[in-house]
Amino acid sequence: MTERIYLDWNATAPLRPEARAAMIAALDEVGNPSSVHREGRAARHLIEKARERVAALVGAEPRNVVFTSGGTEANMMALTPALETNRFDRLMVSSVEHASVRAGGGFPTHQVEAIPVTADGVVDLGALERRLNELQRQGLRPPLVSIMAANNETGVIQPIKAAAAIVHAAGGLLHVDAVQVVGRIPFDINGSGADLITISAHKLGGPQGVGALIRRSAALHFVEPLLRGGGQERGARAGTENVAGIAGFGAAAVSAMVNMTADGERIRAMRDRLEAGLANGPTVVFGQNAERLPNTSLFAAHGLRAEIALINLDLGGFAVSSGSACSSGKVTASHVLAAMGVPDKLSSGAIRLSIGPSTGESEINLFLEAWMKLLAGLSKGKRGLAA
Ligand code: PLP
Repeated sequence: MTERIYLDWNATAPLRPEARAAMIAALDEVGNPSSVHREGRAARHLIEKARERVAALVGAEPRNVVFTSGGTEANMMALTPALETNRFDRLMVSSVEHASVRAGGGFPTHQVEAIPVTADGVVDLGALERRLNELQRQGLRPPLVSIMAANNETGVIQPIKAAAAIVHAAGGLLHVDAVQVVGRIPFDINGSGADLITISAHKLGGPQGVGALIRRSAALHFVEPLLRGGGQERGARAGTENVAGIAGFGAAAVSAMVNMTADGERIRAMRDRLEAGLANGPTVVFGQNAERLPNTSLFAAHGLRAEIALINLDLGGFAVSSGSACSSGKVTASHVLAAMGVPDKLSSGAIRLSIGPSTGESEINLFLEAWMKLLAGLSKGKRGLAA
């Protein structure tokens, strides 16, 4: 069997050993965290320790962290007309958001508006400001705005601080899907200006199925929780907590924080070397002129369809993605590249390579070799990788 090379960290990151150890230990706790007996208190302790750790990763107060079943639920919870006591009747989202934001949460479709991006995939702040001014002139209420910290396909980092200033000046609130950023590069909720952020454990080496919605200030209330019932998470999210998952999330947060600087530099150097190698062939890298996550590269070669490349690379031992991770399996044209004005013909060949702390130099070299063979096969009119 071919040895596997995992280059799809934006889809999900391998579990960090610290997270695995914390989860295994937590699985041996029998208590329900809401119970008052000793067993219950032990389970509660694990959750509160994890809350502190996750909060520390983004500079938040622990009481402002609400654990959820993942990034999707946190996005859904944030995007509600009933956020705060004054109801929102408009949601503005960037046109490159993840599907869980583009779905609009609790807003009816006609109340959701897209904010355009530039050809580099960066949110058009001028367009945002003009639209907010227009709403103000018409005497309409300020909106809830959602802009991601970095894009999962291109890795393009958004100007969150500047966006927050514009949104706040117009009286709106800003939610930031920080799923792809937190744990990879420093992100401080206070410095960012975001009112609410979404994070997900499995993108930073924690388990799948756990995430958090985090408020910058306790003054913001979740007036209509998605899940009502037992009043867990201070009433913001009912249901017995995923104790082992949350403990794993906390441990992953600590590990990510400790290793972020060293890992980030090494990862960036590898990604840049990959792109230098890609530049030896007819390959286009998307968003390359914008500031990007150090671990992500989205690229395509004219004439090479993503599904053909994916199948061949998979057979060759490489796990990579085409465009959006969450839609891998069904290869559809990327809405992100469409928003950047990339023609379908080219974007239908987009391959995303995303790496992480345990990626090795040799894996990048092997990938480049395989990619070049694929291109060579293409120019000969063949479809397969050479054996
Ligand atoms: N937001 C972004 C930017 C993502 O990349 C993803 C997952 O791919 C999500 C949200 C959803 O997170 P989860 O898988 O935890 O539901």
